[in-house]
Amino acid sequence: MPEHSNPELPPLPYDYDALEPSISEQVVTWHHDTHHQSYVDSIQGAEETLAENREAGDFGGSAAAIRDVTHNGCGHYLHTLFWENMSPNGGGEPSGELADAIEEDFGSYEGWRGEFEAAADDASGWALLAYDPVADQLRNLVVDQHDQGALWGSHPVVALDVWEHSYYYDYGPDRGSFVENFFDVIDWDDVAEQYQKATSQ
Ligand code: MN
Repeated sequence: MPEHSNPELPPLPYDYDALEPSISEQVVTWHHDTHHQSYVDSIQGAEETLAENREAGDFGGSAAAIRDVTHNGCGHYLHTLFWENMSPNGGGEPSGELADAIEEDFGSYEGWRGEFEAAADDASGWALLAYDPVADQLRNLVVDQHDQGALWGSHPVVALDVWEHSYYYDYGPDRGSFVENFFDVIDWDDVAEQYQKATSQ
């Protein structure tokens, strides 16, 4: 059996100041190096607790550790996607198969975007665009924390972090402007790749 590999913090695919002015160098630095790192570290800690409890045959605390693995594992997964979804050369609108799918499943790009922005306004965590393989369609999801509101089996292709640590230093309580400016750095080429991967699984 292969050894499990420990989760690792992936390096950013661009410089820390590359997303300015949408997201400041300071926020990207804290968000990636401190917050994302802590989710990675916490998965490791919870896995160690589970292994120790199995070894000792004492499962007190194991349920809490399982929750920790889920919460931090989803945090790690979504942050990795969030970083990949952005680029200093982003912006514009989707094209090709992805654009066709958005139009088919949401009526139009504007229909998708308005709904996604409503999800981002309401979420206590994340707004996601995800491919649902059961219904074979794209769906927007409102996610609280990192994992509440997940749709089993679906594959997120856009992840927008609306935790306060993601925007408050730059925008204060004006989350709407942060969401608006996210669309200046969204990398539709990456989203198209994520969609391709999700639909070919
Ligand atoms: Mn975050």
